[in-house]
Amino acid sequence: MNKETNGCCLSHSAHENHDHKERYAKRWIILGVSLVSTALSYIFYALDLYSHTPYAFLDFAWIAIALCGFPILKESFESLKNKKINSSVLIAIALVASVAMGFYGVFAPSYRSHENYFFVAGEIAFLMALGELIEDITMNKSRFAIQKLIALKPTKATLKTENGYKEINIEDIEIGQTVLVRPNETVPVDGILLSESGSFDQASLTGEWQPKDLVKGQAVLASNVNLLSPVEIQATKKSEETVISKLIEYYKEAVRHKAPIAGVADKLSSKLVPIALLTALLVFCLTAGTISVTEGLGRGMAVLVVFCPCALVLATPIAIAASVGNASKKGILIKNGGVLELLPSVNTMVFDKTGTLTSGNLEVDEVVSQGMDKRELTRLAAASEMQSEHPIAKAVIRYYGQTPPYPEKTAIRSGIGVEAVVEDKIVKVMKLSQAENECPQAFDDLKKSLSKPEGATLIAVIVDDKPAGIISLKDTLKKEALPAIEELKSMGYEIVLLTGDNKESAQAVAESLGIEEYHYELMPQDKADLIEQMKAQGRITLMIGDGVNDAPAFAKSGVSLAMAKIGSEIAVETSDISLFNDDLSRLPQLMRLAKRGIFAIKFNIALALAINAITVALSAAGFLNAVWGALLHNLSSVLVALSSALLLTQKSRGKNTLK
Ligand code: ADP
Ligand code: MG
Repeated sequence: MNKETNGCCLSHSAHENHDHKERYAKRWIILGVSLVSTALSYIFYALDLYSHTPYAFLDFAWIAIALCGFPILKESFESLKNKKINSSVLIAIALVASVAMGFYGVFAPSYRSHENYFFVAGEIAFLMALGELIEDITMNKSRFAIQKLIALKPTKATLKTENGYKEINIEDIEIGQTVLVRPNETVPVDGILLSESGSFDQASLTGEWQPKDLVKGQAVLASNVNLLSPVEIQATKKSEETVISKLIEYYKEAVRHKAPIAGVADKLSSKLVPIALLTALLVFCLTAGTISVTEGLGRGMAVLVVFCPCALVLATPIAIAASVGNASKKGILIKNGGVLELLPSVNTMVFDKTGTLTSGNLEVDEVVSQGMDKRELTRLAAASEMQSEHPIAKAVIRYYGQTPPYPEKTAIRSGIGVEAVVEDKIVKVMKLSQAENECPQAFDDLKKSLSKPEGATLIAVIVDDKPAGIISLKDTLKKEALPAIEELKSMGYEIVLLTGDNKESAQAVAESLGIEEYHYELMPQDKADLIEQMKAQGRITLMIGDGVNDAPAFAKSGVSLAMAKIGSEIAVETSDISLFNDDLSRLPQLMRLAKRGIFAIKFNIALALAINAITVALSAAGFLNAVWGALLHNLSSVLVALSSALLLTQKSRGKNTLK
């Protein structure tokens, strides 16, 4: 790895870490001081030490109110300025009400024997700050995965210029420029290999430890490590557009975005504010005549204090961050909290075949040709597949074994195949059924000469509009496919298989996995249409694909998940969830995790509301004074928040690719 570059990156993230630690340390100190000050306030009041001084309003709790309460007041002021009522407004009301009662208690001696409201204010402020710190720490754990990724991204590159080589920042590389990558250096930008061949370590992104051998014209990705001789790479993307940059962006987005459910707390708060004020007023009015005015005021204030929805505010974002973070530790990138919320409602899992249920590492099984020998046919086919990312293309090139000639023009026909100009010949490689429609001459003789066509993927090669050959490929099922599908079935999901491949190969896969519903010979648009139909039938789908030709189906599906084997960046872009290690056994885990996370949120909201209702009722009836009301209510908030944070600790089975 480029020592200078990488060193810089690592120190960068180390620096960030240090910053975090410092900030946390400061906040812990603030919390500590606030805790001591509220405790002193309580003790002084209990020992009745304040009453002997004319400065009784200088309560110790002011320290906590200032340190922890000021940020809350500021936030609520800002949200009011934007004409929004969120939870901080309710908390601020409770704070201000408590402080007002505190002054009232000090200056209206008949009342002061009841409670110390300064303490109440200090305690609310302290607990809210504590909750917020817990939230931040949880969120930050989720960010851990991002930092790992950022560390992979190089910062400098060696640019080839007319006057030799020049060190530049990767942001300054323009599309079309050539960079030099020395052995053990990290590829700085996505591009095409200009050197004859090269070997790269992609483990950092894919978890695949096997070196990847590439030939001239093939795509290389930033963050791959060059293993052998120096190579030249022509940039095809700006540095901010590279796969690795995008991944980092998505990770950041995932933790930044809140689920719609997270807004519930804020929405409730805007309704709670008038309700709280009305209830407090009602309590005051209803008790008038039965108890003294000051006591009535006290109860009203107690109601205001316990009305603040602290648990709501804390529990939801923590649960979301914890779930998203936990998933990312398993190599599952959930793009935002909203996706997490959708997952538990899914009832149908729609699988693509090639590269999703099967390994996608197809092997050429048999080649038949007419009008040229098999070797020549393979050479032409391999050449025209050079620009394709389809697993079939990779299999054909691998089978050819040498560097094929570089095609002059290539057109990729999504879900069908490729067309290219190779050495002045027009070479088309596509699925047999399509070739039979397009080519004026029949493939019958070629088909007959195949020795075992059953269940294989059959690819036709057309050279200058004449049938030239058929390549038969075999794929193997992923070893975890059967157990994963069985587990998903036992969890109650309906399983559907969609493929662009022929009927026989679809059938073979469906049968060996016990999938009853399968559709074949589909174009990418057909897959999308089928998803649409399922939707109309009331099925809520999770589309799972390898991203090659799946984008339209992804867009139509309720939720989509891509096998994010690197190279299929479209998949990562268009899908809601990306699976980095291609491991299907993560699917049941993901579904359980989402269910647990969303259940935790709903449970927490219900619990928070119940506690609020009970404490409000008790305060209104005079059973709970503001001090105990606030204590009980806020402690329960912290407990709820902690229970959400526990989601982060759900154990993951198996290894993690983003080491
Ligand atoms: P799947 O649904 O199995 O992932 P695709 O939609 O990616 O399949 O492709 C459908 C069919 O089109 C493949 O089974 C193959 O026959 C053909 N095909 C697609 N891309 C190529 C290619 N680059 N070379 C040859 N054939 C291809
Ligand atoms: Mg596919």
